Amino acid sequence: MSAIVFDHVIKRFGDFEALGGVSFTVEQGDFFALLGPNGAGKTTLISILGGLTQASSGAVKVMGHDVAGDYRAARRAVGIVPQELVFDPFFTVRETLQFQSGYFGLKDNGAWIDEILENLGLTAKANTNMRALSGGMKRRVMVAQALVHRPPVIVLDEPTAGVDVELRQTLWAFIQRLNKDGHTIVLTTHYLEEAEALCNRIAMLKQGRLIALEEKNALMNRGKARSLTLRLRPAE
Ligand code: ADP
Repeated sequence: MSAIVFDHVIKRFGDFEALGGVSFTVEQGDFFALLGPNGAGKTTLISILGGLTQASSGAVKVMGHDVAGDYRAARRAVGIVPQELVFDPFFTVRETLQFQSGYFGLKDNGAWIDEILENLGLTAKANTNMRALSGGMKRRVMVAQALVHRPPVIVLDEPTAGVDVELRQTLWAFIQRLNKDGHTIVLTTHYLEEAEALCNRIAMLKQGRLIALEEKNALMNRGKARSLTLRLRPAE
């Protein structure tokens, strides 16, 4: 069974086609990068995967569960780290994670929450209110929140956009460990360097269409990497 199946996914916003029939699979154990310039459709695809947006047509399955037809099972199978920072400002960090545990009906999840806090460098902030955290710390909590229910598939939407080097390293070390432990990882990014360092497979979207889907090494060998890096790098 594949971890994720995108099957001819089309998404229209009015007359505009944001996704023009996207098909690919992510296999269990993959560390998968979804690349593409701004507006390519990456976030739209992730929103459909997370059940936040409905596809106009086509199907998405997570660990065999159809996102449209069997949403609860599909939702349990995936942890999504969104680009936006979404939280209750008056909850502490720990309460934020406990609330998420409650949403999934999990009891006795304290030891796992402690482990997540530790691995993301959040232990000292466990009793701090969310509103008092820096932007980087809030982003760490967003990652922690996605992991609370131990999903087999973890999806991170531009997790390192605008974060400092220290957080990048903390985050990647933890995500790589989760991947080694058997979790499937999907990340969207602008940075080919990041994909190159971390991922085993890469898909590239452009204007809502899949333009490449390759083992990382094949892609690098064909010399595409350099030109893509230049094209994908955001203006700074
Ligand atoms: P990416 O994440 O690759 O930058 P997005 O998925 O955010 O791309 O956007 C893909 C395209 O769909 C863009 O042209 C964007 O303007 C458009 N789009 C996304 N969401 C909406 C929406 N709710 N209404 C209209 N157009 C949208």
